[in-house]
Amino acid sequence: MMNILIVGAGLSGAVLGRGLAQAGHKITVIDSRSHVAGNCHTERCPDTGVLVHVYGPHIFHTDDVQVWDYVNAHAHFKPYKNSVKSTVDGAVYSLPVNLHTINQFFGKTLRPDEARAFIEQTQADTSITDPQSFEEQALRFVGRDLYEAFFQGYTEKQWGCAPSALPASILKRLPLRFNYDDNYFAHKFQGMPEQGYTAMVESILDHPNIDVHLETPYTPAMAENADHLIWSGPLDAYFDHKLGRLGYRTLDFERFTDTGDWQGCAVMNYGNREVPYTRITEHKHFAPWESHEGTVCYREYARACGPDDIPYYPIRMVEEKTMLGEYEALAAQTEGVSFVGRLGTYRYLDMDVTIREALDLLPQLIARFE
Ligand SMILES: Cc1cc2nc3c(=O)[nH]c(=O)nc-3n(C[C@H](O)[C@H](O)[C@H](O)COP(=O)(O)OP(=O)(O)OC[C@H]3O[C@@H](n4cnc5c(N)ncnc54)[C@H](O)[C@@H]3O)c2cc1C
Repeated sequence: MMNILIVGAGLSGAVLGRGLAQAGHKITVIDSRSHVAGNCHTERCPDTGVLVHVYGPHIFHTDDVQVWDYVNAHAHFKPYKNSVKSTVDGAVYSLPVNLHTINQFFGKTLRPDEARAFIEQTQADTSITDPQSFEEQALRFVGRDLYEAFFQGYTEKQWGCAPSALPASILKRLPLRFNYDDNYFAHKFQGMPEQGYTAMVESILDHPNIDVHLETPYTPAMAENADHLIWSGPLDAYFDHKLGRLGYRTLDFERFTDTGDWQGCAVMNYGNREVPYTRITEHKHFAPWESHEGTVCYREYARACGPDDIPYYPIRMVEEKTMLGEYEALAAQTEGVSFVGRLGTYRYLDMDVTIREALDLLPQLIARFE
């Protein structure tokens, strides 16, 4: 039996802790926050009863059957379809860009084949053969008009830089559809845990070999009694930022409440640059099977992450990648520590990928500890 200290009670820490506890090890999980579940944390608003996604909306979607079975063993999932709308220049459109968006935007009544031909022949910039940036990728596939309406302003607000400075890979995730399918995700399984993600993570951590200590920031002295440390905090923070700070975007949420139905949908993007926020989320719509008089909304603003802010999205531009390589080299030389999760590896990871990676790491750790 090994004594294992896990820093971070998010999905990475919880899934690894559970697997190692089941293998007979003694697990201590600490988190500086007052709750488990990391950024997936959900809690009920005491005034309205609405289940709020405290660090921004989380929709579970995956093609991975084993991961889907895993989360369903710890929570009752309700079917949920993520349909996003976008307000641009005083009109509301459907996202991701689909046949409805195209017809409404260009004032047409095209059928699928006609729309495909219309975009390819009159909109897409076919002179771009090997798109290098986000902007080139968008111009190549959707053309300037749709790019400027739905991607340019939103992306500038989200990332704080011109889309021409961002890698093309970011847009590969946003499909262009020639039918009326407005399901944001194309995965086989999609849903919401009925009682929220925090209850799900509490269930994962509920094992006699696991002790959880909240409001407990890590100090190196804590590792002295541990045989192994699993670190799901920021990679650069483990090394006291001695090589510099890895760049992140952070989010500010301006919370407001009202009664009834404020915007009629869960997520409304704002494409225009002049609107300072990227989107408004109305949390009761993430649980359409519940009914509440009141409503809780978040206006979401993105900006550069300062030392005291919550790191949300790794920037991963050229400079950050160089620094990341140096931190990864340090991490590889650090014995007795595994760096995991979205912060520990400085990558954007969806929940299903986070769980997949933890499940894949488990047998390696278990074998090593034997
Ligand atoms: C705005 C936003 C929206 C998202 N939406 C979706 C979505 O719709 N669908 C989806 O699949 N994924 C989504 N994700 C991704 C999802 O949040 C991650 O996959 C998941 O949170 C990763 O879990 P983790 O355990 O690796 O990290 P985290 O959840 O960040 O957990 C790390 C934990 O470590 C703790 N910690 C850090 N440093 C210390 C320290 N020094 N001492 C003690 N504790 C420490 C932190 O407090 C935190 O609780 C979204 C992410 C963001 C930012």
